[in-house]
Amino acid sequence: MTSIVRTVAEMREHVRAWKAAGQRVALVPTMGALHEGHLSLIRIAQEKAQRVIASVFVNPKQFAPHEDFDAYPRGEAIDAEKLASVGCDLMFAPNGAEMYAPGFSTTVTVSGVSEPLEGAARPQFFGGVATVVAKLFIQSQADVAVFGEKDYQQLQVVKRMARDLDIPIEIIGAPTARAEDGLALSSRNAYLSTEERAAAVALPTAMKAAAVHVAAGGRIDEAEQTATAALKAAGFGQVDYVEVREASELSRLGPGPIGEARGRILIAAWLGKTRLIDNMDVG
Ligand code: AMP
Repeated sequence: MTSIVRTVAEMREHVRAWKAAGQRVALVPTMGALHEGHLSLIRIAQEKAQRVIASVFVNPKQFAPHEDFDAYPRGEAIDAEKLASVGCDLMFAPNGAEMYAPGFSTTVTVSGVSEPLEGAARPQFFGGVATVVAKLFIQSQADVAVFGEKDYQQLQVVKRMARDLDIPIEIIGAPTARAEDGLALSSRNAYLSTEERAAAVALPTAMKAAAVHVAAGGRIDEAEQTATAALKAAGFGQVDYVEVREASELSRLGPGPIGEARGRILIAAWLGKTRLIDNMDVG
């Protein structure tokens, strides 16, 4: 049974009892609409700690007014069943007022690594993410937290935030869970029509081809341009970015061959009304 708690005080009671028993506690922050990718994070968390908390909170602060906060898929009962099926100990499902009391006026800002890519496309996003994640870390007092590489820049931002603020928590990055055809699992895939879902495979396909081109010594600008053209040809609309960046700082690389640098290719593109993101190592 996965217990559901809605207040910080209740969550802390559980954590206090677990820690008194000498148990390590892991946290997996989510926005719900759980899929196999989220559950893979819970399983990794279970390898790192005796107790696992999944938080389920659609965080209004990381959505701009024109974005999909209201439409974002929600289904708490099904989420609770899925968490129970993998043996997650606790679901923390606060309401908006529990997370943001009236007069809430603090924002955690991580400069540098949060600025390009998602930060440029969604200026509000990482302030909202860093603020809610800092709160969740402090609220839960977890020893370890697991985040997906699916949101690669977010993982780097959260690592930097925890380090800079001396929050005593270990951050683990987990591999991206994918559908059989290679599309990264995402709660937002639920927005795709049947035709769009079929076309979406172009994203991981173009990404992989670009990564192979760069890993083989090809030019970064060529790889980015070819991948962008492939997305357009497959029916994608606006391509927010296709970029090969340095893997930890996300600083620019290229336009020529990658040389000795460790690279990561990151993509965000629109298919109809759905914005898809993905990334992979340039090995
Ligand atoms: P979200 O609910 O989409 O905010 O995601 C919650 C956590 O699950 C984040 O750490 C994501 O990176 C992670 N996540 C989302 N999709 C996947 C996936 N396909 N594979 C692995 N982790 C994922």
